[in-house]
Amino acid sequence: SIPLGFFGGIGGASKKGILIKGSNYLESLSKVTAIAFDKTGTLTKGNFVVHDIVTDSLSKDELLEVAALAESHSSHPIATSIREAFGKELSMDRIREVQEVAGFGISAIVDGKQVFAGNRKMMAEQNIEVKQLSENIPIGTTIHIAIDGNYAGYLEIRDEIKSTSKAAIEDLRHSGVHSLVMLTGDAKVVGEAIAKELNLDHAYTELLPADKVEKFEEMLAKRGEKDQLAFVGDGINDAPVLARADIGIAMGGLGSDAAIEAADVVIMDDDPEKLVTAIRIARKTLRIVK
Ligand code: ADP
Ligand code: MG
Repeated sequence: SIPLGFFGGIGGASKKGILIKGSNYLESLSKVTAIAFDKTGTLTKGNFVVHDIVTDSLSKDELLEVAALAESHSSHPIATSIREAFGKELSMDRIREVQEVAGFGISAIVDGKQVFAGNRKMMAEQNIEVKQLSENIPIGTTIHIAIDGNYAGYLEIRDEIKSTSKAAIEDLRHSGVHSLVMLTGDAKVVGEAIAKELNLDHAYTELLPADKVEKFEEMLAKRGEKDQLAFVGDGINDAPVLARADIGIAMGGLGSDAAIEAADVVIMDDDPEKLVTAIRIARKTLRIVK
């Protein structure tokens, strides 16, 4: 039978907006020694803002309009930011054959032209050469745009690190979590800058959804016998990793149903410090029960 104390722990956690799906998860939570984080929406706010538009063949407004049209059907935070920057009504009969490729970007016919809006990997796959149009190296995420096979420029969009991410990482380290890494589909420069700012041990970058699963499985295979490896994600594209983790933690409560289903613990708000709270409650409960 399950000791009564466990219910106290689960109840106490739920009052703080932390849903723990069973007493066994309380136990693994108390023993977490390593955590892999998703980036967007987990350590960063996921509120991207268009910071710069760089093009040599169109006006900035024209490039932004093409991008907004291409992104008009996507619910990705990148797409939302591009539509917001454009800010005007978009006529849906200008766009056809939209395909969103997870980890790459969008392919669509816009005003009868083949448009690709996505990262360098997407451009490489389409054999489109990314021209260097600016001396400034973008420090944000770049969305490259190609029109009918020609490189047309890029949008630089920036996200912000959540205000409590840094303190949460530090507190987790102090509480004995000895390995803290990030898995992201974003570019190396972006991932590494954030990892440095947050004092993470490593950033694995430019990962497609399937690569994230593979990287995480490598980490699972290498962990020590006493290690408990957690994954923390906001649920967009990361349900498969949440399901494989010793303890899968979904953050934000707004992720997909699939993610909430796959997770062992759900943190209802989007505050990374709640991870520290969850571990503390779990350890306290285990001390009382044993
Ligand atoms: P993360 O791992 O940071 O949560 P994703 O896996 O959702 O990011 O996306 C990884 C990368 O794929 C993005 O940084 C972007 O380059 C590209 N991408 C994904 N969706 C889109 C989109 N709708 N439009 C343009 N690029 C996209
Ligand atoms: Mg994500």
